[in-house]
Amino acid sequence: MKTISEIRADFPVLSRQVYGRPLVYLDNGATTQKPRCVIDAVNNVYTTYNSNIHRGVHALSDIASEEYENAREKVRSFINAAKKEEIIFTPGTTGSINSIAFSFGERYIRPGDEIIISHLEHHANIVPWQMMCERKGARLRIIPIDDTGEIIFDEYLKLLSEKTKLVSVTQVSNALGTVLPVREIIDTAHSGNIPVLIDGAQGVQHGTADVASMDCDFYVFSGHKIYGPTGIGIIYGKEKWLTELPPYQGGGDMVDTVTFEKTTYNELPFKFEAGTMNFAGAIGLGSALDYVLSIGRENIESMEKELLRYATERLSGIRGLRVYGTSGRKIAIISFLLSNIHQYDTGLILDKMGIAVRTGTHCAQPVMSRYGIEGTVRASLCFYNTMEEIDMLGTGIEKVISMFEK
Ligand code: PMP
Repeated sequence: MKTISEIRADFPVLSRQVYGRPLVYLDNGATTQKPRCVIDAVNNVYTTYNSNIHRGVHALSDIASEEYENAREKVRSFINAAKKEEIIFTPGTTGSINSIAFSFGERYIRPGDEIIISHLEHHANIVPWQMMCERKGARLRIIPIDDTGEIIFDEYLKLLSEKTKLVSVTQVSNALGTVLPVREIIDTAHSGNIPVLIDGAQGVQHGTADVASMDCDFYVFSGHKIYGPTGIGIIYGKEKWLTELPPYQGGGDMVDTVTFEKTTYNELPFKFEAGTMNFAGAIGLGSALDYVLSIGRENIESMEKELLRYATERLSGIRGLRVYGTSGRKIAIISFLLSNIHQYDTGLILDKMGIAVRTGTHCAQPVMSRYGIEGTVRASLCFYNTMEEIDMLGTGIEKVISMFEK
């Protein structure tokens, strides 16, 4: 097992300074930093074998195609999917959900049908469904949350009916850190033969992303939130659904035969991969997953649990600081406000101390409305963060408060 200093040394950006101070990067919910092996893997594509995949008969194209398909296998194994054909590369979580919402809507949704999401969703798991509902005359139903930021399960049960065609919920709230009871949500939906999509954008980097044990119908995530490159993401879909759904986009590579009269589509997974894919990103993602496995998912989980415990203790002791999202089941995200201090002021002053936090609605405006606030300051931690960084955050926040007291 690597020491924390060895782990941090794997991430070149962590050793930089901001305004002459060491960077304290606490915005991992927005995007994670990249270990050297991911940077090298992408660099290696462009310096040694860059060539378009699945097309050429020449050597470089063969290497690129093979590496791309190896990356698909790494994703399959990482999320414990049954088949490689169930793994589709996309530009990211947003791209994945838009694509499923479109295809699912075209194939299955009729006027009066309903889609259930929760009040905790990121805009990426709200707006594509709204657009689809508008197109198809369907209706969006929302599972409410309580004051701690947990979904109210009894209300979910009441929403399920013969009109429900799909449930789409996040595994973990990006705004509050709440971990949702996805297994129970899925089991209940399945008892009415309703498929479930899990937005794993935050869930995948913390803890389990085992699609077989969840038994979800779709699982989506972004590479950049699990130490991989930007511009690459995943749709996992059970083969049955992916076979039945029409493609979202048409173009090269997703076809079998094309005539002006009729086109037939390629087999899975290529039916959903139109045009030149981000193969360098996919290969970088494969390397990121290797890296996570080399640290160990259980090790990551226990390091982050300890960081959350320490950060909660440290920040809760600060007078005038209110934490939003107090569920006992949460990942290492602390969303907070300081009394009478705007979140942007807090964020800007912390930034000047080299501390990067996110401020605003976190693309989850309904969560903010639920608490009657405009936004929060969010510190989102991951396994390369340290207790010293949490102390620096605590001291930084105390300094912000003292500046406003003057
Ligand atoms: N869902 C959740 C829960 C997220 O946290 C995010 C990113 N903040 C997204 C979806 C969208 O991910 P991306 O911007 O990578 O498409």
